[in-house]
Amino acid sequence: MAYDPKKANPTLIIPEAPAKITRKKKKPKEIAVVIPDNCTGCEACVSFCPVDCIELTPRDTSDGINVVIPNVQIRFDECIGCKICVHVCERMAWDAIEMWPTEQVEGFFEIKIHDKYEDAVAAHAEKMGT
Ligand code: SF4
Ligand code: SF4
Repeated sequence: MAYDPKKANPTLIIPEAPAKITRKKKKPKEIAVVIPDNCTGCEACVSFCPVDCIELTPRDTSDGINVVIPNVQIRFDECIGCKICVHVCERMAWDAIEMWPTEQVEGFFEIKIHDKYEDAVAAHAEKMGT
């Protein structure tokens, strides 16, 4: 049987992170959603996102003990639905990211997903009062 490098080393099928950051021009059909209970906070997915929209969740220090490793979260309105993070997580970590239909994300999190990155940024700034 022929040697298949992808079977020998499954991480080879993970796409390389692009050198150039691009932004969305239309609303994607699906958006990545992190399943918090599965996420270890390893950050393996973070550097692969082509639009740099995966970030660590803020640490909860309310109990005065700062030992919990935070999981990651996705800025949904910037996600272009490329699924790269899903492949990275399932190959290198814990299968902690799912793709949800955009309408489901909007309904579940009670947010609006915009067509263009610029509109997403403007909406976020308005929400934050900046
Ligand atoms: S690769 Fe998976 S487990 Fe690691 S931080 Fe990303 S979502 Fe969490
Ligand atoms: S689906 Fe693509 S754009 Fe969205 S969070 Fe994952 S890697 Fe980033």
